[in-house]
Amino acid sequence: MKYEPVIGLEVHAQLTTDSKIFCGCSTRFAAEPNTQTCPVCAGMPGALPVMNKKALEYTIKTGLAMNCRISPFSRFARKNYFYPDLPKGYQISQYELPICIDGHIEIVVDEDVKRIGITRIHMEEDAGKNIHEGASGYSLVDLNRACVPLMEIVSEPDIRTPADAALYMKKLRTILRYLGVCDGNMEQGSLRCDANISIRPIGETAFGTRTELKNINSFRFVERAIDYEIARQTRVLEEGGHVVQETRLWDSAAGRTYSMRSKEEAHDYRYFPDPDLVPMVVDDAWVEEIRSSLVELPDVRRERFVNLYKLPEDDADMLTSDRMLADWFEDVVKAGAEPKAASNWVMGELMRLLNEENLSLEDCPLKPGQLAAMLKLMNDDVISGKIAKTVFEEMYRTGKSPDVIVKEKGLVQISDSSELEKIIKKLLDDSPKEVERYLAGETKLIGFFVGRVMKDTKGKANPKIVNDLLRKMLRSSF
Ligand code: ADP
Ligand code: MG
Ligand code: ZN
Repeated sequence: MKYEPVIGLEVHAQLTTDSKIFCGCSTRFAAEPNTQTCPVCAGMPGALPVMNKKALEYTIKTGLAMNCRISPFSRFARKNYFYPDLPKGYQISQYELPICIDGHIEIVVDEDVKRIGITRIHMEEDAGKNIHEGASGYSLVDLNRACVPLMEIVSEPDIRTPADAALYMKKLRTILRYLGVCDGNMEQGSLRCDANISIRPIGETAFGTRTELKNINSFRFVERAIDYEIARQTRVLEEGGHVVQETRLWDSAAGRTYSMRSKEEAHDYRYFPDPDLVPMVVDDAWVEEIRSSLVELPDVRRERFVNLYKLPEDDADMLTSDRMLADWFEDVVKAGAEPKAASNWVMGELMRLLNEENLSLEDCPLKPGQLAAMLKLMNDDVISGKIAKTVFEEMYRTGKSPDVIVKEKGLVQISDSSELEKIIKKLLDDSPKEVERYLAGETKLIGFFVGRVMKDTKGKANPKIVNDLLRKMLRSSF
């Protein structure tokens, strides 16, 4: 029997607000434990939550970017459960009236556009963190993260392969980072994903029983965890068993999932409207104001890069996968560079150097104007393509302008024929055997001669002139 996977993701994204969702405490990451708490987020009896308007604005912004409808009336609900990292005994979340509903985003799979539905986006508070390491016989609780604002973005079960799940996740992250509402840092937990998976015989329309995987904290693991789970469920069915609806934990070290608890049902949580918070009434004018503040989104920008700059799809894809990268590229073009050349250098040398040191573009010492200036030097034949690599790396290391580097290091391309002629003459005199072989028809030796001239001039010779001169001088030495 052949099975088809059905996948739906629940993604938690931490909002980039400075303060928490229901109190004024800071959301800064990695502070000393319990230094960013107050009676509200520590769950003291009688302390009252107050809604952070920025968090609402960011969630509406996200909903609009993901083609959702914004509910004019929505409210918070209490999700009741007991755990030591949840001092109130309930999490403030949204239940029957979430702020955003019925949206979608698109992913591109081998030129095919696939639409993934977004069921809902709701707001909620994060819980604290239990710390078990380092202490013996007891656990510690850090409440810095309690009450940090989250959005939960719930997809429709529209995803069919582990690779598509990872693409969806990446696209989500790109959009969130474009909007500036979430930093998308999966290692620090600002973007987390629970994956729901079921399988069904191909041709079957009803869904199978799903399991929910927790603890997935990288794109690679999204794929691997789902892969593993599909194989596991397939084995269960093939052995004549049935999949149990449960929550499973992904263990990245072991590369497998294992059962954590039987899946809780909504009624287990005793949801009810939170009486401490008034419902949120959002008027159209505000929604429209937020809509008009939206930046150009990645899909639109990608199209524009293809049409306006005539970039290949792959270049446009890569460059627009990150807003800062796309901005950087456009700044090079605005400074006068030819788009495809700019794209090659950004995706090639710039990415290589940044990756080598694991730096982000934010920390990049090189400015777009410098790359544009360097490309102009290449265009004007002042430096060769080979020397340009040296100049580029030097600009990157020192932040100096390309003209200064070229001057300081004496890197100006040698295009002076008489000077090159001298160098070539000496080379030919020193290599009688190779000259003989070349003249006997071994013409590919031209590469050897060019290479030697480049070496003798430390890469500064103008390769085109060298080629022309070499052919001419070899012919005349016949
Ligand atoms: P809960 O909050 O209890 O996990 P939801 O109904 O909100 O439940 O669904 C959560 C996610 O599970 C959604 O992303 C949805 O698309 C997905 N999902 C629902 N049913 C299935 C199924 N049979 N197979 C795979 N995914 C599913
Ligand atoms: Mg769930
Ligand atoms: Zn607080």
